[in-house]
Amino acid sequence: MDEIMVTPRKLSQIKKPLISVLIPFYNEKEVLPILFQRMNSFMDSMPEYDWEVVMVNDGSSDTGLLQVMQMHESDARWQFVDLSRNFGKEVAMMAGLDYVHGDCVVIMDADLQDPPELIPEMISWWLRGYDDVYATRRSRGSESWLRRRLSLSYYSMLQRTTKIPVLQNAGDFRLLDRICINALCSMPEVQRYTKGLFTWIGFRKKEITFDRADRAAGKTKWNLWKLMGLAIEGITSYTTVPLRISTFVGLGVSLAAFGFMMYYLIKTLLWGDAVQGFPTLVVLLLFLCGVILLSLGIMGEYIGRIFIETKRRPAFFVREASLKPRNK
Ligand code: UDP
Ligand code: MG
Repeated sequence: MDEIMVTPRKLSQIKKPLISVLIPFYNEKEVLPILFQRMNSFMDSMPEYDWEVVMVNDGSSDTGLLQVMQMHESDARWQFVDLSRNFGKEVAMMAGLDYVHGDCVVIMDADLQDPPELIPEMISWWLRGYDDVYATRRSRGSESWLRRRLSLSYYSMLQRTTKIPVLQNAGDFRLLDRICINALCSMPEVQRYTKGLFTWIGFRKKEITFDRADRAAGKTKWNLWKLMGLAIEGITSYTTVPLRISTFVGLGVSLAAFGFMMYYLIKTLLWGDAVQGFPTLVVLLLFLCGVILLSLGIMGEYIGRIFIETKRRPAFFVREASLKPRNK
């Protein structure tokens, strides 16, 4: 991406900047003690800022919330937001954005795959005037070869369908200025593909790279099924190109079918019909049905999204929170 001109951020002289850290978590009891310890010593090492860690409990079924509540009792920097059930990481992040009070927020995973030690670098870019500092992974930790390949080809395919840049290799580890937080909170859609939203809102972006670590403890919450869901979500929320493709395929197939029709019509008129070509018929029928079903499926994906959006349901419910929402 091209470098953009930025001007240093003007901060109030009297007040220390408040930096929020937003961490959605779901069944992470093994990793939480390590997270507490690592974040605390990190925050202690940067007393020039005020800190706030907002832990969003995405319906964990383990003791995670209890651990966070205890942390909140003993250290006022730690806050929690308890969602009413498991909504998925995307929604949990958005819920957290409503609650953070900072001048900027750093979003990171609970499993310490996103090292907190990168935060000072993010902050320094933020102070220089960037609104959205995102970390892309130079390496992806110990992921399987297949998962890496699939994810890379997915991003490059998605990019070909849209003019908005798709960020490859960027997770959700990023720093957002208050202006971006407010922009994100003002988006009315219920279904949110955050990766798409982050780029869509614009603002001054800065990329930094890091080596993604392996999980500190516990195991990943994503399986192939969930990832495929996210992938389709990504496409249908980013672009309507599949609809166009299905129009063109439909057009092409209809043209070919018309050609065939003329051919058979003329042939029958001239030479009569000696019942032949049964295999051709079967093949054509199957092919056409396949194309039709595929197009219907694609349309269905979009109609499904419209259906869910028109219900105007809130994206999530909060059961309890240790702080008041700032947005909303
Ligand atoms: N997560 C969540 N809700 C979910 C699944 C995951 O809040 O339904 C959190 C999880 O606790 C972690 C982050 O999202 O903090 C990333 O999850 P994970 O490490 O399982 O994903 P990976 O790093 O393997 O992509
Ligand atoms: Mg992880």
